[in-house]
Amino acid sequence: MNVETVYAGIIGGVVADALGVPFEFSTLDSMMENPATTMVGYGTHGQPEGTWSDDSSMTLATVDSLIHGVDYEDMIQKFCEWLFEAKYTPHGEVFDNGCTTYSALSNYRHANRSPLDCGLDGERDNGNGSLMRIMPIVLYANAKDMPIGQQIELIGDVSALTHAHKFSKASCNIYNFIAQEILDNPDKDFKTVIVDGIDKSRKHYENEEYPCFDRLYGNLFSLDEDNLSSKGYVVYSLETALYCCYHTGSYEHAVLKAVNFGGDTDTNAIIAGALAALYYGFNSIPREWLDKIVGLDYIKELCDDFYKSLK
Ligand SMILES: [Mg+2]
Repeated sequence: MNVETVYAGIIGGVVADALGVPFEFSTLDSMMENPATTMVGYGTHGQPEGTWSDDSSMTLATVDSLIHGVDYEDMIQKFCEWLFEAKYTPHGEVFDNGCTTYSALSNYRHANRSPLDCGLDGERDNGNGSLMRIMPIVLYANAKDMPIGQQIELIGDVSALTHAHKFSKASCNIYNFIAQEILDNPDKDFKTVIVDGIDKSRKHYENEEYPCFDRLYGNLFSLDEDNLSSKGYVVYSLETALYCCYHTGSYEHAVLKAVNFGGDTDTNAIIAGALAALYYGFNSIPREWLDKIVGLDYIKELCDDFYKSLK
């Protein structure tokens, strides 16, 4: 792995998040009428262009924590520093957060629970809040040549710090199977690595009951777009992000497509964008978008330190 791969996975996600922030909660109809075509500011959260959200903040907190190896106590403390003290934010304020994440981090901060006992595990606690921040662990597992069994446990645990239900943990792991396929097979085309990654995850989960993945393991990519949902349920976000990657030919088009579904635009975009940048490379991110990212030098420094720690 080289440093450009770390930049791709992390910054490719941050740029996509920032692209989606002004459009969060828009309806599909309004996006179709007035599609996103480039990085803009204001809109839903009134933030200037290049402002990224909680999705990137938690991703960066994870990167910062992993520099010192895997330590769940340290990782959840850094999540709390984001939520309660606005660390890892572009303008020193938290303008967006998910309720499951809020409850889990409150369990840590105020109820003194151990890190792996903080996440919520009800079937209704399956928002996309762990999938959106999982890419740093994917990179860590790849760089460390971790056996797949160990990867699955690690990814599940890191999800469980906030999202402990098996659908969330499995969604993060399916994403990891695909991302590992990209990293390990740089010469294959994007559609092939996506399908191969999904196949590997299907084999892994074949003895377990996951009816929520019926479409993903069925005909997801031949569905019409209006069958997809842009709501924040982790399975829908995984489906939408993968669909956008599968049906486009560049980083730019993958992330714009994710935003133009409306709904949870920033999160669907970061999930799609981190994967697309991993495939197309850091240089595929439009320079014009990158230059607008608030705190880009700080983000790059974190990535540099993370990369050095992986050796
Ligand atoms: Mg967000």
